[in-house]
Amino acid sequence: MEKIPITIIGGGVVGLAIARELSSRGVAGVYLFEKNLYLGDEQSGRNSCVLHAGVYYTPGSLKARLCVEGNPMLYDFCRANGVACFNTSKIIVAVDEAKDRMLDSYLKRCAANGVRGVKKILSSEILKIEPNVRAMSALYVPPTGVLDVPEYVKALARQAADAGAGIIKETEVVGVMSVSGGFVVKTRDSLGSEDEFHTESVINSAGLYADEIAAMVNPANSWRVAPLRGEYYRYDSALRDDIELKGTCVYQVQEPYELDGKLYFGIGIHLTPTLDISPDGTRKIGRYVSVGPTSIPVENKHDYESGRKDARYFYDDVKRFFPNLRLDDLQPDYAGNRAKLKGYDDFVIRRDEKYPDCVHLVGIDSPGLTSSLAIARYVSKEFFGGK
Ligand SMILES: Cc1cc2nc3c(=O)[nH]c(=O)nc-3n(C[C@H](O)[C@H](O)[C@H](O)COP(=O)(O)OP(=O)(O)OC[C@H]3O[C@@H](n4cnc5c(N)ncnc54)[C@H](O)[C@@H]3O)c2cc1C
Repeated sequence: MEKIPITIIGGGVVGLAIARELSSRGVAGVYLFEKNLYLGDEQSGRNSCVLHAGVYYTPGSLKARLCVEGNPMLYDFCRANGVACFNTSKIIVAVDEAKDRMLDSYLKRCAANGVRGVKKILSSEILKIEPNVRAMSALYVPPTGVLDVPEYVKALARQAADAGAGIIKETEVVGVMSVSGGFVVKTRDSLGSEDEFHTESVINSAGLYADEIAAMVNPANSWRVAPLRGEYYRYDSALRDDIELKGTCVYQVQEPYELDGKLYFGIGIHLTPTLDISPDGTRKIGRYVSVGPTSIPVENKHDYESGRKDARYFYDDVKRFFPNLRLDDLQPDYAGNRAKLKGYDDFVIRRDEKYPDCVHLVGIDSPGLTSSLAIARYVSKEFFGGK
């Protein structure tokens, strides 16, 4: 039977960043398996493309730490590798006094998480940043930005392959069984051909399916990924001056909600600039503004369409701070499902309790894109002897 030292399951930004990190450190025999024809086609290709700053996450959590570390790493990577990224900054707007008080709790979280440069601003300053946004006050968050995710996926895959990693697409891992000295991994390709090989280590970065892989490795693992759909609309900001955005990400304060005795902060529907291609081939902030995403639990991990919300749902939410938008400005756009881990509000990155040569990455929902390079460095250091 063929032997492979390290098997990575999943070719989203996290699996690819880990393949790149390990192989560029000189670790030999890294192979990544992706079930789809294209890399980054699930969560990684269906998100808001935002480089988050780290405002919302519980201080001390992996999300807080890896987002704050990952943000500058991702800007640096994009700049060094010709991947378009724009440090747009963001405003989180409060439309009434209750929401205004919430900004103060966000500010405390920013201080605890080490998010730099955040400050509270008043409506007159909001108007200078985004003249069409109406709010009482806002938090100004300088580290936020947007990036070209498809180009990021390509750059990660190219660098991983150049450093010696094998990237095998259209090949689904359908079984992982612990044996002496590692695991036997069973795969099935898109033509239905099956194969088996021996591997010393498994890295489970299967996104929405990481719970299923974890249960294959060790049936005692009971994590459950409960997909949370994020739907988007968009509008053309060049249609009228009164709906133009100057390129800032505009979020609104969400009501915190309590679950299992803990307080959670949602991100909610926001306005995000998208990218266009200039005549000279470079990327620029484009004319379309993305409106979304929703947070709607769905049964099926790849159901992106059934029962989608209509334009009014988005319009009613956004008009509170963006009053000139009209219902018929909104056009339906894509949707993505987040790998929300039931009962957790943090990334889970740990060795399997029974089979420690397998590392699971479960519940890598937002801010997994922003954190991807920091997650890869963390996995390399904690589990594969990296620095
Ligand atoms: C609507 C939405 C908005 C978001 N917005 C942001 C944002 O603005 N900023 C941010 O930082 N994060 C955001 N996120 C989160 C971010 O997209 C994810 O955290 C990140 O993409 C996770 O990457 P991943 O590689 O872990 O997972 P994925 O991209 O889901 O990749 C997992 C891969 O594993 C493959 N796979 C699964 N099972 C198998 C198998 N058995 N065999 C082989 N391959 C398999 C899948 O096909 C998939 O390609 C958002 C997510 C969503 C859905």
